[in-house]
Amino acid sequence: MSSLFPALTNSPGEHIALRFGDRSLSYARLAAAAGAVAERVRGEGRVAVWATPALETAVAVVGTLLAGVAAVPLNPKSGEKELGHILTDSAPTLVLAAPGDELPDSLRDLERVDVDVPATGALPEEQTDAAAPALIVYTSGTTGPPKGAVIPRRAIAATLDALADAWQWTGEDVLVHGLPLFHVHGLVLGILGPLRRGGSVRHLGRFSTEGVARELNGGATMLFGVPTMYHRIAEDLADNPSLAKGLTGARLLVSGSAALPVHDHERIASATGRRVIERYGMTETLMNTSIRADGEARPGTVGVPLPGVEVRLVEDDGTPIASYDGESVGEIQVRGPNLFTEYLNRTDATAAAFTTDGWFRTGDMAVRDPDGYVRIVGRKATDLIKSGGYKIGAGEIENALLEHPGVREAAVTGEPDPDLGERIVAWIVPTDPQTPPGVEELADHVARRLAPHKRPRVVHHLDSLPRNDMGKIMKRALGGHA
Ligand code: ATP
Ligand code: MG
Repeated sequence: MSSLFPALTNSPGEHIALRFGDRSLSYARLAAAAGAVAERVRGEGRVAVWATPALETAVAVVGTLLAGVAAVPLNPKSGEKELGHILTDSAPTLVLAAPGDELPDSLRDLERVDVDVPATGALPEEQTDAAAPALIVYTSGTTGPPKGAVIPRRAIAATLDALADAWQWTGEDVLVHGLPLFHVHGLVLGILGPLRRGGSVRHLGRFSTEGVARELNGGATMLFGVPTMYHRIAEDLADNPSLAKGLTGARLLVSGSAALPVHDHERIASATGRRVIERYGMTETLMNTSIRADGEARPGTVGVPLPGVEVRLVEDDGTPIASYDGESVGEIQVRGPNLFTEYLNRTDATAAAFTTDGWFRTGDMAVRDPDGYVRIVGRKATDLIKSGGYKIGAGEIENALLEHPGVREAAVTGEPDPDLGERIVAWIVPTDPQTPPGVEELADHVARRLAPHKRPRVVHHLDSLPRNDMGKIMKRALGGHA
């Protein structure tokens, strides 16, 4: 297979590839510094990368990929226990870090190599085996302990090229980036994506709506974010004309990693005239579906299958669902060149994740609109509530609750009920903690919008929802029935 990063040799050398805060790197410097990393790591087994939001992380990953060695990005905020698990599981032979970064005790026994961004090495002949492992990325741990997904070079190229087609993504694009670099969203889409196209990345270090406004008004063309970021944008828009102006002028606003609440989508659309487009992916599959840049951005949907990706919905017994009726709920299964190869050291979990004919079981449930748009209803394990003979998705109830002015954040779970099988439980963060809306008011609100059997029977008030570093709601911590 050809190079993952043709722009390293084809782009004008002085063109800016990466900027983190006030430090930037041209394509010529990136090629030289990544070449030096590649020379150093060639012949190693796996290489861990201490993935702080810094230039060094991007250089480390690109250099490692160029050398044909698999990179294991580590979350610097992981606790010792999680880090210990990942290190034992992935057994890296060294760790790449930025000079001056303090590494925790669990990394003490591993050889440390500092990444030097002014270093100069030659670009190696790139590994051509499409099936060779390029990255081992641990899943977000939303539903259980993180699993190491082995991602081949082929999957990275396939997903980035499919997105280029769907989003008309080119080397002219300048991305505003505020995500961590140890998951697929921030690393594969946010760093490797622009570098494969020959474009630029401006990383905010830490996400802020001021940073987004500054960059979008200063020449950036795209924003990738998770729903919690778009929620903060929606909250700040009214008081921040420069943010509204920046969003209005952007070419593409993309959300992913979790469902974007319809309420936030609508607030952003009405303040800026711009619609955020959603895409759906996973660590194991990279990207599966997206709204296309030239398509209709329909709130609550994740668009259509990307080029080269086969998507089907299946019943509990594995029968494929033929209808596109917006109602028949099934598990999403996918097949294509974007898929991972296996879970590291987990033959059992890998075997369980695939059907005999090679479809990957995502564990996400969805319906399809008549024109093929996919609507995710929620995860099979945590978001599907079986109540009174109905299968009810948590997502639509959460969307309805968020339309209530007294609700700032909402999560819905099921709990055992002697009559209904399960009853619907709402966990809400009230807009005003002094006057939180009660169960009757919220039950009426939901029953009027959706249907009476979808109303919550129990409401809990919280100061905040438990979320992980991608802003995903940890339903396990809410006593969700996973
Ligand atoms: P774990 O597998 O460890 O429990 P995780 O599934 O959250 O964690 P990721 O691979 O980072 O780990 O996330 C993939 C999941 O995120 C998908 O299976 C899906 O549930 C959710 N997701 C991603 N994009 C979207 C989206 N646009 N809308 C709704 N859900 C999404
Ligand atoms: Mg998962």
